Amino acid sequence: MEAQHPERETTVREFRGIAVSPGIAIGPVHLVARGWPDSPEYTLPTESGESAIALEKERFLTALEASCTQLRQIRDRLASGKYNKQIIYILDAHLLILEDSQMRHGPLVHIQEEYCNAEWAVKRYLAGVLAVFQGMEDAYLREKQQDIRQVGKRLLNNLMGLKSDFYTGFPHPVILVAEEFTPSDMLLMDQDTVLGFVTELGGRTSHTAILAKSLGLPAIVGVLGITTLVQNGDVLVLDGLNGRLVVNPGTADVHIYNTRRTRFRSFRTEMFETTVEPSQTQDGHRVLLKANIELSEDAERAVRFGADGIGLYRTEHLYMNRFTIPSENELYEAFLRAGKRMNGLPVTIRTLDLGGEKQADVLRHPGALGSNPALGLHAIRLCLKRESVVFRSQLRAILRAGAECDIRILFPLVSGLGELSQSLEILSEVKDSLVRDGLPFDSAIKVGIMVEVPAAALCADQLAPRVDFFSIGTNDLIQFTLAVDRLDESVAYLYEPAHPAVLRLIDMTLRAARSHAIPVALCGEMASDPRFTALLIGMGLEELSVTTNCLPLIRKTIRGIDYGKSRDLARLVMERNLPESINHLLEEWLTETFGSDHLFR
Ligand code: PEP
Ligand code: MG
Repeated sequence: MEAQHPERETTVREFRGIAVSPGIAIGPVHLVARGWPDSPEYTLPTESGESAIALEKERFLTALEASCTQLRQIRDRLASGKYNKQIIYILDAHLLILEDSQMRHGPLVHIQEEYCNAEWAVKRYLAGVLAVFQGMEDAYLREKQQDIRQVGKRLLNNLMGLKSDFYTGFPHPVILVAEEFTPSDMLLMDQDTVLGFVTELGGRTSHTAILAKSLGLPAIVGVLGITTLVQNGDVLVLDGLNGRLVVNPGTADVHIYNTRRTRFRSFRTEMFETTVEPSQTQDGHRVLLKANIELSEDAERAVRFGADGIGLYRTEHLYMNRFTIPSENELYEAFLRAGKRMNGLPVTIRTLDLGGEKQADVLRHPGALGSNPALGLHAIRLCLKRESVVFRSQLRAILRAGAECDIRILFPLVSGLGELSQSLEILSEVKDSLVRDGLPFDSAIKVGIMVEVPAAALCADQLAPRVDFFSIGTNDLIQFTLAVDRLDESVAYLYEPAHPAVLRLIDMTLRAARSHAIPVALCGEMASDPRFTALLIGMGLEELSVTTNCLPLIRKTIRGIDYGKSRDLARLVMERNLPESINHLLEEWLTETFGSDHLFR
């Protein structure tokens, strides 16, 4: 049941946000509230004595039981899904909270001793628990408040007979609107009824945005105040191609957007159905086109879309939403699965990149969410600090999977020779340990580094002789070069891939690699944007690794480009000083070559 708003305003209004996942959705708003639902709070009439208390206790226990049953049912229903493990970890964490004996006991005490009605008793009990978590020094434990709030919301909704399934089971398709969604929220969204989502917070290369793109879910982030500007039942047009939102559109708008949606869909269908041809330019220059994946299962789609391999396997998801660190064997099996699914094509596995925006409870450390987490104990730094617990077992698993498939290692966030030498030394010790254990592994495994810290690009000539390849991570390279938080919507206008400083660092990296004869890939989101394809190829990139869903579009773009002309374009771009002027040139070039539909990306 949804709240009714008699005074509801139905005038057409427009808002702008950051388009992070293409597609057009038209449908009613479903607001995902952050706080508790409005619920009655009163003391039970003392004259009714024990019977009122018993009734209230009964109501609470029934709602508690219903909440557990719902979670178990969702868990079972989703168990066969693609993201089953992640979802199950989240749901298990929520179930654990509900099944805790204190959760059963605490509200009962408030009902018995303070005559609180059940809703109030639940809120009072949870307020106490949340205050304890809020006061914790450990940032990860503080973050647990989010889970407790979600569980509390479910319980209160059940007490009041309201819908309690936040992301699934909608009777009709909806567009979700919330302050923010975490990647784990997204995994719980019902793909059949959620048409798209809008959030107040977030940036273009946040993990939630990347995941939305990979799920093909239209999304706009960074629309400040949107949760108060729309209401349940408002009709929303979400244009994930250019970041426009229209609330309660008129008939003419609906017609325009329906047409646009049809064009986008047929553009996509045509793209996805085109038979896979080699990704080479019109004049025969071959560019390797690989996929970025998050889970071994994603490799299937990469094969279907004709990827030349996996250019970036982000391993963080293997550590998220769970209570223990994955064992070496669990990792080995996941890596092997990906390798086997790629049928002999190479799989580049990035060692753990946790920290910064990607957090996992199992690897918490004081200060993990400090004042500037992206600059803190993150990625390779965290691995080197926790080498015995995390790094060595990951390296052993990768090396072992390499005995059976073409696997490569990629170290993230390397900022200089010191970190690289330390990492290579540990790798060599890990190889020795596998020899001692008599386990087969790839002793000549190829090792590369992400170039995503400006320092690495500036020192690329020092790093190149020590590695087999570079992979440029523009998502972070842009953030660190321009001092723009990739998650902060208030500075998103400064997050500019076409900034000359970023392009110069890419160019420096390419030059250093060329003089040491090592290949360079680019695996940031820039590679998934067709506006940049010709420029990147013209600059000398030999490999692009893109969000799986973008493989057909980027292949089509590469196949429509003339390599000679793309080199001319790159020269022209490098002479320009302003991102606006570079973007203009690139869009003009793309429209001239492919027509405006190509900007659908
Ligand atoms: C990058 O920084 O460009 C990258 C590919 O890594 P991530 O987005 O996982 O930080
Ligand atoms: Mg990165």
